[in-house]
Amino acid sequence: MRRPDLIADCSNCAALCCVAPSFDTSEDFAIDKAAGAHCPHETVEHRCAIHAEREALGFSGCVIYECYGAGPHATRRFAGSSGLDAERNEVFLVLRVVHELLWQLTEAVKLIPNATPEVLAQIASAVAALDAVAHEPTASLLAADLCPHQAAARAALQRVAQALSSERLPKRHLPVLPDATLRTRPHESPVARTHACAPHDTRE
Ligand code: SF4
Repeated sequence: MRRPDLIADCSNCAALCCVAPSFDTSEDFAIDKAAGAHCPHETVEHRCAIHAEREALGFSGCVIYECYGAGPHATRRFAGSSGLDAERNEVFLVLRVVHELLWQLTEAVKLIPNATPEVLAQIASAVAALDAVAHEPTASLLAADLCPHQAAARAALQRVAQALSSERLPKRHLPVLPDATLRTRPHESPVARTHACAPHDTRE
């Protein structure tokens, strides 16, 4: 079963994916939107006014977007506070990266029931470190260097891919591949931070 905290729950979220990220007019988005600006289709109740028609109206990027539970997490963290929207949006963008890595790792481990204790420990270590980051106080979270976590996740996922290969299981069963780790929009600042991570070798 998927970890509940890594699942989007739009009913308990301030529609942060409709506010925090920026996007440019493209085949995925019909308009330009700056980071922190509310989507013009967001209602006052933080719902999408065009939800059923997003694809037809040129918002297929919204259809495929996945926050991995980062939205409810950031919304909870700032519940009851006011005047902190910019900080909340930044937190969401960092958590979006952290939650995606957590989702990749926790889903990937399910694919290798016969994994060695060493591989399981490697994945558990990466997950524990990411969970610790996700629950850091806000200032520490925003200052977190995600590069080591990205590298650790990639290395662990590589081990999963190797295990699948050695068991002659189809690789398509791997939910994500290491190179797909950070495919988030380039304007999202934490992603820009991780894109700046030095290239690394995942070989042992
Ligand atoms: S950020 Fe996640 S939970 Fe919130 S509205 Fe967007 S998809 Fe739903």
